[in-house]
Amino acid sequence: MSKKFCYLFTEGNASMRELLGGKGANLAEMTNIGLPVPQGFTITTEACTQYYEDGQKINDEIMAEIMEYIEKMEKITGKKFGDHENPLLVSVRSGARASMPGMMDTILNLGLNEDVVGVIAAKSGNPRWAWDCYRRFIQMYSDVVMEVGKKYFEQLIDEMKEKKGVTQDVELSAEDLKELAMQFKAEYKAKIGADFPSDPKEQLIGAIKAVFRSWDNPRANVYRRDNDIPYSWGTAVNVQSMAFGNMGDDCGTGVAFTRNPATGEKKLMGEFLTNAQGEDVVAGVRTPMPIDQMAEKFPEAYAQFVDVCKTLEDHYRDMQDMEFTVEHGKLYMLQTRNGKRTAKAALKIACDLVDEGMISEQQAVAMIDPRNLDTLLHPQFDAEALKKAQPAGKALPASPGAACGKIVFTAEDAKAWAARGEKVVLVRLETSPEDIEGMKAAQGILTVRGGMTSHAAVVARGMGTCCVSGCSAIAMDEENKKFTLSGKTYHEGDWLSLDGSTGNIYDGAMPTVDATIGGEFGRIMGWADKYRRLKVRTNADTPHDAAKARELGAQGIGLCRTEHMFFEGDRIEAIREMICSDTVEEREAALAKLLPMQQGDFEGIYEAMEGCPVTIRFLDPPLHEFVPTEEADIEKLAKAQGKTVEQIKNIIAALHEFNPMMGHRGCRLAVTFPEIAAMQTRAVIRAAINVQKKHPDWTMVPEIMIPLVGEVKELKYVKDIVVTTADQELAAAGMDMKYLVGTMIEIPRAALTADQIATEAQFFSFGTNDLTQMTFGFSRDDAGKFLGAYYDKKIYENDPFAKLDQVGVGKLVKMAAEMGRATRPDIHLGICGEHGGDPSSVEFCHKVGLDYVSCSPFRVPIARLAAAQAAIKEQRQ
Ligand code: PEP
Ligand code: MG
Repeated sequence: MSKKFCYLFTEGNASMRELLGGKGANLAEMTNIGLPVPQGFTITTEACTQYYEDGQKINDEIMAEIMEYIEKMEKITGKKFGDHENPLLVSVRSGARASMPGMMDTILNLGLNEDVVGVIAAKSGNPRWAWDCYRRFIQMYSDVVMEVGKKYFEQLIDEMKEKKGVTQDVELSAEDLKELAMQFKAEYKAKIGADFPSDPKEQLIGAIKAVFRSWDNPRANVYRRDNDIPYSWGTAVNVQSMAFGNMGDDCGTGVAFTRNPATGEKKLMGEFLTNAQGEDVVAGVRTPMPIDQMAEKFPEAYAQFVDVCKTLEDHYRDMQDMEFTVEHGKLYMLQTRNGKRTAKAALKIACDLVDEGMISEQQAVAMIDPRNLDTLLHPQFDAEALKKAQPAGKALPASPGAACGKIVFTAEDAKAWAARGEKVVLVRLETSPEDIEGMKAAQGILTVRGGMTSHAAVVARGMGTCCVSGCSAIAMDEENKKFTLSGKTYHEGDWLSLDGSTGNIYDGAMPTVDATIGGEFGRIMGWADKYRRLKVRTNADTPHDAAKARELGAQGIGLCRTEHMFFEGDRIEAIREMICSDTVEEREAALAKLLPMQQGDFEGIYEAMEGCPVTIRFLDPPLHEFVPTEEADIEKLAKAQGKTVEQIKNIIAALHEFNPMMGHRGCRLAVTFPEIAAMQTRAVIRAAINVQKKHPDWTMVPEIMIPLVGEVKELKYVKDIVVTTADQELAAAGMDMKYLVGTMIEIPRAALTADQIATEAQFFSFGTNDLTQMTFGFSRDDAGKFLGAYYDKKIYENDPFAKLDQVGVGKLVKMAAEMGRATRPDIHLGICGEHGGDPSSVEFCHKVGLDYVSCSPFRVPIARLAAAQAAIKEQRQ
């Protein structure tokens, strides 16, 4: 049987989101449960992928099926495209498997032409409405399908308003709108060189193609990368009979959430605009009224809507985000989906749903997006500073968090300034999807227009970026890059602070403090810990970071990079002396200065970790990273070493490498200078002895990790130094302490020979940063320069340094884990590359049976949750 590419809303259901997209599946589901949904059909995501496979063409088979479904839709609605009695008008909307708010395109009022406008004007007795629909349609179609910029049409509207001496669109008469529609058509013809299409079927095909095309627009591509949505999924297209919210004052349109998406409070929240069409609310063109005011204007429709909200929540067992229209007092549901929410709201809603008996603990854990937790853990304004500060203005608290930065007025500036290391706050009249990259680069976003459901608010919440929206007190002068608020004029580059949790705006830069987390966070994390198998450690090099990680639930340190301790204060001088030594004696003298410093650091870290395991990695980077470049520093070093400046410069020159990442680093340093490994071993063991004596109830088992191993013999060589030194230290102290010696698996050869490596290594920690670098042959420091081109050309969809490449690098990890276990069944396995804090990579680590993941302190909760989700998912399967 050939594939089916179209489904009536009556043919689908909620379980078909892969095929019908989220919107299509939910329109079908709402139809099934008897809610008032204007009928139509969904063109599948497979039709979209076929469209791309066919070289951006709708093939004959799919075209024939679409035509067949138009007829079916005409029968169901009793309306016909282009009909002079009862014309069919439709909306055409995108809808991918995962919701991507605002990323793709929508067209409303499709099916209109000059004849049809006349028909609906006469039939409705409302010519103003009819022409309003038509001019909107021409504008939307021109923009979305033909890519004639919106601005040309907006200019014509502004001119018309000026001519008529009015300020609002709603004040334009039927005649004015008719004239505008004619001007729009002329504009279209001037730009495109052809008449605006009048055949509804031609219009529909154009719109469907535009939606398919929008799957591949730059903002959708950025959104997908950020949200782990594969390009291969494609988008479905929903063709739905129109319900009109712009037919008069007994009509309107709204967007609402069943619970507050910012706080999670169980209370209907939303916005409503009378006499308006869908996009007006989200676009923030007019500032809408809060949803409860709808109760006064439309008591019946409101009561019905409240019922629908309850039905939908009970049905989906999650907070819903809905779009609806009221046409002459009658309610129509246009969309429902699980609403995007802040991390704080996500935790509260999940806990409330458990308490309400709607979902299980596992479901609560599974429904939270781990990446969102980041926002909870981010800084807030210092409470004292906040108390003293007088807000310069207040608007809607659209997305929580504290932001302070220099003012910029365009998304491009935000990107450019951020790229050169500046913190910026993006101030806009309103944001549009083209601004997404600039919004991402900004610390915070402030908009003059738009409500809690405006583009800026929705997108910022999704990104976890602080956002204050709808500040109408601002007098904006975008052209001259300035605005006035409470009597003060702010220019580009001035500092501004935003509180996304209260909506307050502050002049200047306000100090921030670390976030504190409470109640619901602890409950969810408790459940996550109950269901996960993977342990979660942290990458930390200081007692401060270690303590933070412990507070966030880290069960040990998976990676302590010892070189990070070498850069501080007088340490850098000692390490430089060590590097610039000519003899072993000189080097040992310098190392002797470093020993007590390292030992002290390790003691601090052990204390902070309260007896949890700590893996200390030996010196890793190439030595040239430590040598001085300033003349004064070189002179100082020469003096300390009793050498001439010339001699020091020669040593530095000799350290130069063409490819330092593949040069004299990692265990190669210990092979050439074994005394470095001996000193580090002494520091690790002496620190452990001291801490053990201080805390007899802890069981100290120091873990020493040798980096960049590619050959078992080099590991054995370094390990022998470690073991000899450690045993001497323990014997001298009269202590019997267990310690482990293991290695990083970060060179492909180590992964390929993991069975041999495991004869010497008591543990493996996958260093997926270097393993990715060396498997791809991409420099981890420079890949950003060309990865953009790879994304554009769809060669890669994600940064392999952020999200583990499961196909290639992952295969090495899996293989090495299996080979390591075959040699040494009790070998301990972990990961300490950046991937240890990335949810999809954590899931992979669970699947291949690692014992733990290790990540930066603030990502520990993300990893705990992701690990639990992986375990729950596996159990369900
Ligand atoms: C790694 O390579 O993955 C790793 C954790 O070590 P580093 O980032 O220090 O090279
Ligand atoms: Mg490494």
